[in-house]
Amino acid sequence: MNSEKLSDRLNMVARFVPKAAKLADIGSDHAYLPCFLAKKGLITFAIAGEVVLGPFESARKQVLEEGLLDVIDVRMGDGLDVIVPGEVECITIAGMGGTLIAGILERGKDKLTSVKRLVLQPNISAITIRKWLLDNEWELIEENILEEDGKIYEALVAEKGDSMKPYQEKMESGLLLGPFLLQKKEEAFKKKWNLEMMNWHRVYNQLEKASGTIETAQKKQELLQKINLVKGVLGE
Ligand code: SAM
Repeated sequence: MNSEKLSDRLNMVARFVPKAAKLADIGSDHAYLPCFLAKKGLITFAIAGEVVLGPFESARKQVLEEGLLDVIDVRMGDGLDVIVPGEVECITIAGMGGTLIAGILERGKDKLTSVKRLVLQPNISAITIRKWLLDNEWELIEENILEEDGKIYEALVAEKGDSMKPYQEKMESGLLLGPFLLQKKEEAFKKKWNLEMMNWHRVYNQLEKASGTIETAQKKQELLQKINLVKGVLGE
């Protein structure tokens, strides 16, 4: 892969970056996303942030080879530490777990004052991000889901606003499945949650065979609750 043609997953993220934005792509790895956007003239400035030396060097090499040093600044550091307050208006964080993404946002809260949009693409545990957005007055404004190479990916887009707005009376299912995704119920969405349910059933059956401790009973109860919640949504 190179920045000429992004993966469908990164393309889904790229489409949500506002035109002419000043962007920070955190955990940029090869910097394919900012390079793609810069080459198409879709952003005016980007920071490609990396905490690990290898990917940081890959990003620098990519930006240099693409002749984009005047638009993309590759910086090494943890999460939003690489941003000076006020520098960017959009942040993308893609290809990590939801817990890691939410942790980066939490630790870097002071860098978010000028930021108008977050585009987040968790590989797992999107619920952790939705909860963080809810608690921090970021309104989820759009979500997308797709399957690529046998894996299912979600993208979450948020702007400062009324963080409760997308959920209405569907808080529990909205947080777990995504308030926009559960309305659209696309094929990738149905596939993801059918697979999750199969997995929960498998764990449930294993727990049935295990010793009957209070923890086991609690875990079984939680699994049943989730299974029923998802069943309800898919059956609507
Ligand atoms: N964003 C790219 C994508 O979606 O294709 C790369 C994803 S890659 C799987 C995750 C990258 O995030 C790795 O290069 C890793 O070094 C970086 N990373 C993990 N934690 C980070 C943090 N706290 N701050 C900055 N980068 C981080």
